[in-house]
Amino acid sequence: MPTALITGITGQDGSYLAELLLGKGYRVVGMVRRSSTTAFERIAHIIDQLQFVSADLLDQHSLVDAVREHEPDEIYNLAAQSFVGTSWTQPVLTGEFTGLGVTRMLEAAKKGAPRARFYQASSSEMFGKVVETPQRETTPFYPRSPYGVAKVYGHWITVNYRESFNMFAVSGILFNHESPRRGLEFVSRKVTDGVARIKFGLQSELRLGNLDARRDWGFAGDYVEAIWRMLQQPTPDDYVVGMGETHSVRELCDVAFRAAGLDYRDHVVQDERFFRPAEVDLLVADPSKARRALEWSPRVTFEQLVEMMVEADLARYQSEPK
Ligand code: GDP
Repeated sequence: MPTALITGITGQDGSYLAELLLGKGYRVVGMVRRSSTTAFERIAHIIDQLQFVSADLLDQHSLVDAVREHEPDEIYNLAAQSFVGTSWTQPVLTGEFTGLGVTRMLEAAKKGAPRARFYQASSSEMFGKVVETPQRETTPFYPRSPYGVAKVYGHWITVNYRESFNMFAVSGILFNHESPRRGLEFVSRKVTDGVARIKFGLQSELRLGNLDARRDWGFAGDYVEAIWRMLQQPTPDDYVVGMGETHSVRELCDVAFRAAGLDYRDHVVQDERFFRPAEVDLLVADPSKARRALEWSPRVTFEQLVEMMVEADLARYQSEPK
């Protein structure tokens, strides 16, 4: 039975990846940070099948101890300060978790389980002010937020440990991936939750920022399959994972409100407060390498994703009106 260690197991991607690995017969160990309010709701349904180890990306010794104790075959580094908006108000913390945290995890792997295969969660936000479209593995980075800058560091330190120490370390450059488990601060979930609240009469308007920003949105449940496949390859390499389609925030609103029988133009209000100091205007993946080399393809379309999220939020308010 192989052992996988997942940092960020309580997050959206961690929860889907844990489900996937349990289904494949792995022993799954989740690394969690001690805190008085750790949220386990995304993994509540599988919690009995998981093991946990307490460690913190800010504490090198705790990481080495965690890796030594569990001797994982695969390490998935998904933990980060992952919200772009917050990275401007907490830029140093973002650098610590999202950037230097990767080095600390790589060091822990090198010392505690040097033959473990290592996955680093890189991000399309590294492409930022894009220098070519669509974006592929060879597209130069131009990050536009402290989050994006930290992810570029994490990406290159992963490549560097691969090249310096011959580690099986890979970086998955994932475009935006969403689900009913997405945090409410991200625009997809903010919109689908807002639709449900409007449908149930809890609010009448939804205040958003830049409606013209374009993203390549896919389903997180599909993307963790690509992540796992990256670690099963004969040699370590980096991959772009996305749908190869781009949609504006406005289109996202249109699909989401229509799914509930509403018209977004009656409810969505643009609010300066939600604009960003520097914006990423357009992201669209060229996922052809992942499709070819990993034989990966997504199952859920953009429209199906948005409808799934609206349905889940409607069902939530139906069962426990807030
Ligand atoms: P990101 O791509 O990781 O930054 O994912 P987000 O879901 O946070 O944002 C995606 C895009 O939606 C960005 O271009 C935002 O500027 C835009 N956006 C527009 N209104 C909002 C809003 O109210 N909240 C968030 N989070 N993003 C918004």
